[in-house]
Amino acid sequence: MTVRTRIAPSPTGDPHVGTAYVALFNYCFARQHGGSFVLRIEDTDSARSTAASEAMILDALRWLGLAWDEGPDIGGARGPYRQSERAEIYRAHAEQLLAQGDAFRCFATPEELETMRREQVARGETPRYDGRGLRLSAAEAEARAGRGEPHVIRMKVPGEGVCRISDRLRGEIDIPWAQVDMQVLLKADGMPTYHLANVVDDHLMGITHVIRGEEWINSAPKHQLLYRYFGWTMPELCHLPLLRNPDQSKLSKRKNPTSINYYRAMGYLPEALLNYLGRMGWSMPDEAEKFSLAEMLAHFDLDKVRLGGPVFDIGKLDWLNGRWIREDLDERAFADRVAEWAFNRQRLEPVVPLIKERIEKFTEIVPLAGFLFSGLPAHDEDAFVHRKLDKEDCVRILQFVSWRLDALDDWHRDRLFAAVEALAEPLGYKLRDLTAPLYVAIAGSPSAPPLFDAMALLGPDLVRARLRHALVHLGGPSKKQTKQWQKEFAALDPGPWPSVGGK
Ligand code: GLU
Repeated sequence: MTVRTRIAPSPTGDPHVGTAYVALFNYCFARQHGGSFVLRIEDTDSARSTAASEAMILDALRWLGLAWDEGPDIGGARGPYRQSERAEIYRAHAEQLLAQGDAFRCFATPEELETMRREQVARGETPRYDGRGLRLSAAEAEARAGRGEPHVIRMKVPGEGVCRISDRLRGEIDIPWAQVDMQVLLKADGMPTYHLANVVDDHLMGITHVIRGEEWINSAPKHQLLYRYFGWTMPELCHLPLLRNPDQSKLSKRKNPTSINYYRAMGYLPEALLNYLGRMGWSMPDEAEKFSLAEMLAHFDLDKVRLGGPVFDIGKLDWLNGRWIREDLDERAFADRVAEWAFNRQRLEPVVPLIKERIEKFTEIVPLAGFLFSGLPAHDEDAFVHRKLDKEDCVRILQFVSWRLDALDDWHRDRLFAAVEALAEPLGYKLRDLTAPLYVAIAGSPSAPPLFDAMALLGPDLVRARLRHALVHLGGPSKKQTKQWQKEFAALDPGPWPSVGGK
């Protein structure tokens, strides 16, 4: 058997370190067995998927040096590798299940399903789909579908008993069928859900080992059942432990930066980040802390992955990155890498318009624009307090701006300006006052080059991290304030931006 593994990111946001971690283990396993590593883009959620996110994910994985053998950018024998280009394949498979009697059409409207859920909750039951679509005869369902009535296709699920799935690291796991929903396979718009597309593609793309995060364990019964309905052999499953924050909670961007772009912008070396991810749940036989991708490949053993939640600790990553810089970069390589990181024409030229009119000598460049090339500024708390704003005002402003910018994906100067300006009136500040704490949070001082241009140049990762850093520094909002402000924020006219409330 030729091993084939895959990473299947959904392009709905920033390239996540968790994606790189799972990609790394899939990559090592495939390479080690002389197999192939496939990159597939799972973009069936058309409302949330973007081409920009896909491009960033590919770019981030490439930067890390995790090369794939087949993918949307390079093609391959089993493409297309973007699910949005495979709609017909999923539809045909959903219809096959309908014809076999393993799936059914459901015409319930979203409102009807909402009422059903509310009634279940009122009766003290766990809300779940009650199988109402099954009461329709096949002939009637076909007739209604023929008339073009909107509906979804759901899979049938056994009403009782236990589903036993097998996981390479965990052994057998029993999940009662009562906990498994009659999953929607094909949505009313004709697009598949994750479950159908994922199973069909893993099969058609010849994937032999599904190595993914443990958050997908609960999906495995549905997947196993789909393999059975189709009469296909299921790939071996291996669920990797989830990365955690130092407080053991699931790694989340509220507590730690999770975007690979952040680590890249902060000046980490890709080999150090990859090395650190390789230590998440796995270690070298000699427990060496520093190792290259080639060394990891030579010793990797999927069966030795430990299940305890590996902690992604930035302090440890810093230490490791320092070692890589000191031990592996000679002067030439160091200079090359720094130039590649930020000191190159491409990065410097856009800075020129921000500083040219403000300096008389080149020696003023670093004091004025150094913040564009630094990490998180050391703040002086007093610097935030402005003639018209006390500390609470500053926290409130930074929090609202932070929420507003979380939802902004087009990081253009004018969009940034419009997003922040739109907050001034509802929050009751003049724009001039509102931007004062932003200058301090982002540029480290109240006098700096134009704020919005600087934010555009710094990019979303560093700006968001600096806002979060300033909020933490100022003691952040209390729980009560957060609740109250979230309500206020949700009530704001979202303008051309999606509201962050539901995120
Ligand atoms: N699209 C899923 C994700 O975003 C893939 C999960 C899987 O590997 O099956 O993680």
